[in-house]
Amino acid sequence: MEYNIYFWILLATVVGLWLLDLVADVLNLRHMNAALPDGELADLYDAERYARSQEYTRERTRFAIASGAFDVAVFLAFWLCGGFGMLDGFVRTWLQHPVLQGLAFAGILSAGLGALSLPWSIYATFVLEEKYGFNRTTPATFVLDLIKGAALGAVLGGAAFAAVMAFFMYAGPWAWLYAWAAMVAAGALFAFVAPRFIMPLFFKFTPLPAGELSDRLHALCERLRFPVREMYVVDGSRRSSKANAFFTGFGSNRRIALFDTLIEEHPPEELEGILAHEIGHDKCLHMWKMAAVSVAQSFVMFWILSLFITSPQLQAALGIATPSVYAGLFAFALMYEPVGRLLAIGVTALSRRHEYEADAYAARGIGGPRPLMDALKRLSRKHLANLTPHPLAVLLRASHPPLAQRLAALGRLKAQ
Ligand SMILES: [Zn+2]
Repeated sequence: MEYNIYFWILLATVVGLWLLDLVADVLNLRHMNAALPDGELADLYDAERYARSQEYTRERTRFAIASGAFDVAVFLAFWLCGGFGMLDGFVRTWLQHPVLQGLAFAGILSAGLGALSLPWSIYATFVLEEKYGFNRTTPATFVLDLIKGAALGAVLGGAAFAAVMAFFMYAGPWAWLYAWAAMVAAGALFAFVAPRFIMPLFFKFTPLPAGELSDRLHALCERLRFPVREMYVVDGSRRSSKANAFFTGFGSNRRIALFDTLIEEHPPEELEGILAHEIGHDKCLHMWKMAAVSVAQSFVMFWILSLFITSPQLQAALGIATPSVYAGLFAFALMYEPVGRLLAIGVTALSRRHEYEADAYAARGIGGPRPLMDALKRLSRKHLANLTPHPLAVLLRASHPPLAQRLAALGRLKAQ
């Protein structure tokens, strides 16, 4: 281990980001209010359910604090005791080819991480979510999901890692540009095949049965000039009682997927509001805008990577004595974390703006904001949503605006 400038930057990064999350969590706990907010939210919960929502928020936040502390402690212990150097020595004694060494290095680290996070994930599903009545996952489904997720991660993650390694080993000075282009192409391909081949591994899609709901939703799509092939019901209830809706596919292959839990609990006019919101995301080109941002971000990231990947000091700071492309990639990923987190603040802010835009589109599309407002309130009530998240937590993590602000924005549309 070399205690160079990178060592101290990495140490500051790991501890600093952990502290930042801890502060956001503690502020979130302190920001909870014993009294229900007034206005639109006043009738969201009765006193008993409000207390339960706060208890849920408290328990989830404490869980996040504990698991965050555990992760940091394990990482620091492994790093400072020379774990990375030992692992590198191990893969080098057993394997000759640097790509295979890299795959083994990353594979063993991911497997270790997965094993360490498993008890936490079991607790979250079968104790925490169970206690509040959300969990519907059986142990068999849980284990199967775990196996499928690990297999997918090994195949897709392994292929991506091997490709990037190969570019940086064999493609010369423009390797970063080729690697970036290849990752963009792979990402586009993934977005195309995921709805058809990957999501069905986890969820069962059945066509929405003909009837009043199907007629109403198809009529809405027609009114909003939104061509849709088919509407599907997703068996989300096999895992959780929480509800959701989403689109899959592109162009004329577009499909709408509604969770069965959503259909069970919302009246048709609210489902129209939710569907119009999802159509709004499409009409406002949100997916394309997000894709453009992420393509631009990864361009910058690969360029910075090219400046650091060959630095032996960076790898020495991790305790790796013999530099390699894979250790360079791994060390860079760790060092890049604060930049990534900073950029994520911008991305989540954009995502929250998109939610407002999709809400406004939906309100115009169905002739008023009320059904969507009612749908959002019902969802939040059901999910025991925290009504008063702290602004720092929102800034760092929230992909959706806090409910109060969303309802207020929708309410203002009505006043116009
Ligand atoms: Zn949305």
